[in-house]
Amino acid sequence: MQGKKIALVTGASKGIGAAIARDLAGDGFHIWINYRSDHEQAESVAGEIRHAGGDCTLLPFDVADRAAVLEVLEPLLEKEVPEVLVNNAGFARDGILALMSPADWQDVLSVHLNGFFNVTRVVLARMMKKRRGRIINIVSTSGETGIAGQVNYSAAKAGLIGATRSLAVEVAKRNILVNAVSPGFIATEMTRDLPKEQILPMIPLGRIGEPEDVSGLVSFLCSERAGYITGQVFAVNGGTHT
Ligand code: NAP
Repeated sequence: MQGKKIALVTGASKGIGAAIARDLAGDGFHIWINYRSDHEQAESVAGEIRHAGGDCTLLPFDVADRAAVLEVLEPLLEKEVPEVLVNNAGFARDGILALMSPADWQDVLSVHLNGFFNVTRVVLARMMKKRRGRIINIVSTSGETGIAGQVNYSAAKAGLIGATRSLAVEVAKRNILVNAVSPGFIATEMTRDLPKEQILPMIPLGRIGEPEDVSGLVSFLCSERAGYITGQVFAVNGGTHT
């Protein structure tokens, strides 16, 4: 681990976050794997990374819980500062707004927006001192177009797109690059129960994406070759939204 650059990936126990963790480990980063509760899956991702010759550390905490975030990250940040932060942790609680519970509204905004704030705030302060860093926020097509039944999720992801653009301008002089990656339908636990027969006709490329379709772009955005790209939102959605 000594001397390796660090990438903190939130929500990396499965799905898109796990693919990002695997790819960035392959790129030579030591991965701080955050997740909330699925220890078994997180151990499995860590095992894959180590088996492939990479390094990682498991960091379970709820990104929406500011005290928990600080308790885990502050002692680590005293010693080392991640070069890369990927804000990926999240979930949806779909339902029409007229019937949405306050908890479903609040929890979705909390995990995506407060989660972004809690983790980014504490890491960014250190990145700014080092004058170096990459931040990637995983947003969604839902934050760019309207999708019925996802008003809470769309609001959260659209908010994160706004935060990406403003933060990019705010920290550009410190050599910190901030971008968003916006997946369409990707095959993960989150989309497992969606009706495929209704979704596929909406995707010009005719297939649901794989987590690796997203992680490849994140890997590029974290590389030296992406050093002049900031404040952008990149769609990975098989051509669904233009
Ligand atoms: P997933 O397979 O359900 O994985 C979600 C990950 O987030 C898990 O590692 C989970 O950890 C973690 N997580 C959830 N709440 C958390 C919290 N409060 N604190 C810390 N970690 C938390 O989901 P996914 O499909 O890969 O989604 C990843 C990101 O991509 C999300 O931001 C999602 O909104 C976005 N996205 C997904 C799609 C899609 O089609 N799949 C499309 C657009 C955008 P535990 O399991 O341990 O709780």
